[in-house]
Parts: sequence; structure tokens; C-alpha cells
Amino acid sequence: MHALIEAGLNRRWYELRLPEGLEGRYHAEVEAPAGWYLQSWMLIFIAFNLLSLKVDLDAFGADAMAVPAGLTLGVFVPLALGSIALLRGRPSARLQAGTVLVTGLADMAVVLNSARIAPAEHAHTYLILAAIVPLVVGMIAPLSFRHSLAFCGASFALYVTSILSLGLGGTGGSGVPLLVASLILVPLKLAYSREWETKRSFLLGLRERAQSGALAEANARLTILSETDPLTGVANRRLFTERLESAWRDDGPENGWLGLLLVDIDRFKLLNDTAGHAAGDACLVRVAEALRGPVAARGGLIARYGGEEFVSLLPSVGEAEAREIGERMRRAVAGLSIPHPGLGTHGFVTVSVGATAARIADGLEPGALLKAADEALYRAKEGGRDRVETARALPLPGTRASSRSAVAATRLVSVAGRAA
Ligand code: GH3
Ligand code: MG
Ligand code: MG
Repeated sequence: MHALIEAGLNRRWYELRLPEGLEGRYHAEVEAPAGWYLQSWMLIFIAFNLLSLKVDLDAFGADAMAVPAGLTLGVFVPLALGSIALLRGRPSARLQAGTVLVTGLADMAVVLNSARIAPAEHAHTYLILAAIVPLVVGMIAPLSFRHSLAFCGASFALYVTSILSLGLGGTGGSGVPLLVASLILVPLKLAYSREWETKRSFLLGLRERAQSGALAEANARLTILSETDPLTGVANRRLFTERLESAWRDDGPENGWLGLLLVDIDRFKLLNDTAGHAAGDACLVRVAEALRGPVAARGGLIARYGGEEFVSLLPSVGEAEAREIGERMRRAVAGLSIPHPGLGTHGFVTVSVGATAARIADGLEPGALLKAADEALYRAKEGGRDRVETARALPLPGTRASSRSAVAATRLVSVAGRAA
């Protein structure tokens, strides 16, 4: 699409049509002007014709003006009023062109007829009026170039054939009227430029939309990248920290409880040392995937906290449920039966889990949850690993339990920055 838009913007001046695919879209998206635009011009057109009755009076005299006045009032005015009725709302471009063609040509025919039957000295006046009609109508009507070509072409043909076939031009010859006839082609140039410009704005608009779409897509990709751990594909620590803080800031989940679990792979260094770093990486990926299940089922977030440690945030989860979910996570990893050569031939990879939960209304700081989960994890390790322990979150030293201010990221980092 990008190449097509550029091709459209760079096409040569004589290529009014847009490249294939864009022309159709242009017609579908760019609406014809509202009907009231032409309706108002039609009213002015009618007024112009009513005023021209005075020209008829001057040229024909009161006794002989019945024919030209009758044609104006009996043919042109009803046609113009009919057009105004048709142009209500949002008429199609074709209907707008049709009304312009019918009223414009009818008016011209009426004036040309007056030129034919008027006393010779007034013929020129009517001939000039007859050329002015399509000139003005062609210029004000918002026609496409194709429709303008039809209107100006038909007007020009009617004008020239009338002069040549009816011998109009009077004693002065047909030179001046034919010269005036060339003015009928002026609106063509305007219609061409107008369509060229409309198409150009359409293409520029398309380009802008395409660019902002691509930018939004790139931004969305960047956001995902900045929130994802590249090895395991789960959230990274940055997103976890943001979510933990916002849970506090935004008054937390519905029932006010927030569960937090720290999960650490047991004897991971030994796995690296015995099975190799690549096997360690593969293990991290599989463990992350296994942890994802129980957490996602409860609408929580699982993130890689660093190294072989994961953290889970569980909105609306109290201490007992946090422990249950931790147990499910532990079993999910054990169920993977990832061989751990460092633990003997029947050794498998396991995880230890530290779980905690707190009510946001209790006024603890989020760092207190991390500290409690960390203590619980420590106990799980001390107790022999491959187990879940819980700990109650308590106010951090030096903070008041009633303080509900969001903790700074640096505090989260310092609390969690212990060696596993
Ligand atoms: P414990 O059971 O007490 O948790 O012992 P551990 O060996 O799991 O803990 P320790 O902190 O001693 O070792 C963690 C190891 O994790 C050390 C580091 O080399 C390894 N590690 C950290 N990040 C990665 C990683 O992205 N890939 C691999 N393969 N190893 C990693
Ligand atoms: Mg470990
Ligand atoms: Mg660790």
C-alpha cells in the first residue's frame, strides 16, 4: 500500500487516474459535496434568468417577448426547481452532474433560441449570454473532470453547431461568437486541477494514516519487548514492579487482597555445572511455561524476577489461596521431570516457593510483600527445597503501617536484591 500511495503521489500531471486499487478507494471514500452547495447555486441561477427577462424586454419589446419569457419560465425555471428538489441531502456525483447538464444545456438552448429569433442587432448579446451560462455553471459546479468534460463538451458542441448551422452571429460574422465559445472550455482546466488536488489530499491523508498505523504498531511491539523477558517470554521484572505499584496506587483488586509468590529453581547452579548452560536455559524456558498455567488460571501475572527466580502477582488472592497456587506451581514443575544430573540419575528439577498475601487496606507498602515472600522462600530452601512456605507481610522497618504511599522502585529492588 505504501508503494502504491507513493506511486500515486509521484504520477505525472497528465495521469489524473490513480493507480489501480486506489482509484476505487478514492471514489468510495471521497464523498461528493452536500447537495445544498449546488442547490444554492441553482437558486442564483434562477435569479439570473429572472433578471434576464429585462434583456428580453429590451430586445423583443413587450409584445414579442412572450416566446423567450415563456421558455425561461415554462422550461428552464421548472427544470431548475426540479433539480433543487432532486439535490436534497447527499446526492451522488452522477446525479449532481446530471442536474448541471440538464439545467445548463436547457438554459443555453433557451438563450440560443433567443439569439435566433431576436432582432439582428441583439443577436450578439444573446450569443455572449449563451456562452456565459456554461462558463459560469462549469466553474461553480463541483464536477469531476470526467463529468466536466461531458458538460463542457456538450455545451461547446451545442453552441458551435448552433452558430454554424443556424448562421448566427448576425452581420458581424461568426468570429467573435466562436472566440467566445472557446471560453466554455475554461471550466475543464478548473475541474482537472480540482480533481488533481482532491486526489492529492486523499493520498496524503492515506499516507498519514498508514504512517501513524505503522508507528502505533511499532510502539506496541516496543512496549511488548520492553515488558517481556527475552529468554522465557514471560513478563520481565520491570512490568512486575509496575503492576505491583499500580495495584497499590489504584486501590488494588476488588476484595483488597493481593497475593505474591517468589519461585526459585533448586540447585540451578549445579544444573548449569553438570548439564551445561544451554540445558540451564532450556530448563528456564520450560519452568516458566509450567508456572504460567496456575497463575493465568487465577488471572495473575508471572514474571522472571532475575536469574532462576520467578515472581507472581495474584490479585484478589489471600494467603491460603496463595499457598494453594504455589503448590500447583511446584507440582507443575515437578511434573515436567526435567533431569538434573547433579542430583543423581533419578534427580529432577524442582522449585521452592515463598508465598504471602496482604490486604491493601492494611496500609502495608508493596515492598513488605516482597520481603515476606522472600523470607518464606528462604524457609522453603532451609526446609529442604521442593516445597511451599508462607509468611505474613509486616510493615517494613521505619515505615508506618498506615502509610499507603506507593513504594519507590528502588526500595523494591533493594528488598529483593538478596542472593537466592
Ligand atoms: P538454590 O537451590 O539455593 O536456589 O541454589 P541455586 O544454585 O539455584 O542458586 P544460586 O543463586 O547459587 O545459582 C543461581 C544460578 O543461576 C547462578 C547463575 O549462573 C545461574 N543463572 C542465572 N541466570 C541464568 C540464565 O539466564 N541461564 C542459565 N543457564 N543460568 C543462569
Ligand atoms: Mg536457585
Ligand atoms: Mg536464586
